[in-house]
Amino acid sequence: MTTAHTRRVLVVNAGSSSLKYQLVDPDTGRSDATGLVERIGLPAGRARHTCSSGTHVHELTVPDHARAMELLRDAFAEHGPDLAEVELVAVGHRVVHGGADFSEPTLITPAVVDAVRRLIPLAPLHNPGNLEGIEVAQRTFADVPQVAVFDTAFHQTMPAEASTYAVPRAWRLQHRVRRYGFHGTSHAYVSRRVAELLGRPVEEVRSVVLHLGNGASATAVDGGRSVDTSMGLTPLEGLVMGTRPGDLDPGLPRHLAEVAGISVEDYDRALSKESGLLGLTGSADMREVMERREAGDADAALAFDVVVHRLLHYVGGYAAVLGRLDALAFTAGIGEHSPEIRAAVLSRLAGFGVELDEAANASADGETLITTPGSSVAAFVVPTNEEWEIASQAAEVVGAG
Ligand code: ADP
Repeated sequence: MTTAHTRRVLVVNAGSSSLKYQLVDPDTGRSDATGLVERIGLPAGRARHTCSSGTHVHELTVPDHARAMELLRDAFAEHGPDLAEVELVAVGHRVVHGGADFSEPTLITPAVVDAVRRLIPLAPLHNPGNLEGIEVAQRTFADVPQVAVFDTAFHQTMPAEASTYAVPRAWRLQHRVRRYGFHGTSHAYVSRRVAELLGRPVEEVRSVVLHLGNGASATAVDGGRSVDTSMGLTPLEGLVMGTRPGDLDPGLPRHLAEVAGISVEDYDRALSKESGLLGLTGSADMREVMERREAGDADAALAFDVVVHRLLHYVGGYAAVLGRLDALAFTAGIGEHSPEIRAAVLSRLAGFGVELDEAANASADGETLITTPGSSVAAFVVPTNEEWEIASQAAEVVGAG
């Protein structure tokens, strides 16, 4: 008989050319194995599986997602843990765009697969890969319930005033043009941890979560519900990111078409892949930008200032939207590991009573309070854990939470 502590969820994050997975205990967040099959459909692929016996890497060609899923299954069979020995209660799939159809994690049925397919025009770079992952996992783990956890779901609580673009009615009604928001799984997890760290019921807490990775977004959370977020119809809007610019003047495409003949395709590529830190400095990597800034590079110094300025713009705006700010949380690669960015944001808020604890900020490792006890707003570093959030949501959907 299986017991509660052997329950596991296989969390799958399938992209267009990669399959990332983790075997997670939904109750504790403990991870027994992680893996990544990458360069699917490209000449030289690679499969990596890390478990208690170490990291196992195979260099091989991976023609499609079906082969990637076989490699996943073989890696568990060969290196462990043995999936026959755990109670696999669900496969939890990260799905980027759930549109307005999904505000909750959802048991995957043929109708759900169809709905995710219909949403491809809203997320052409992400939903196709997510669907491939679902289809191959359904075949490989035919007896295990499959659950979709949407990046957009947490933001479905946004009031209409926050999700509505002031554009023509036909765009809004016929083409679903509105703000959806992303990184919802991370914002949900981190905002809940913030309430726990404050020792207050989640219903009472108003917070801003700054998820600062290669992609970056800010969310205003009131009583555990997202009330505004910086990404919109697509993950391009909002903060300055690794290769994306965040907010821009909507008049820019026309200007560039006129002065430089730039097409919609070129514009889109430049905004997805060539802007942000990369456009400002030549590097999309914040660590490298910080090193150059310390060495006196003017472009890197400007990029840092632009990133911080945009962050302040959102934190201030969201404090006003919330009407009161109890906590501010920094998460993801930059949020968790860059004391300089955190200090730059928090010290600029000193006039609002925010008091940075410099020593705590400099040495933060894991969940850490980085403001003084007298600070008007408590700021925290909270490492995100999207896999645990997906696992616990998936387990709850199948009644094993
Ligand atoms: P993704 O969105 O791909 O999951 P991550 O959350 O891993 O990305 O964040 C990646 C970003 O975090 C990169 O810009 C990287 O340079 C930055 N980063 C990681 N460590 C540090 C650090 N010590 N200082 C500054 N930036 C860091």
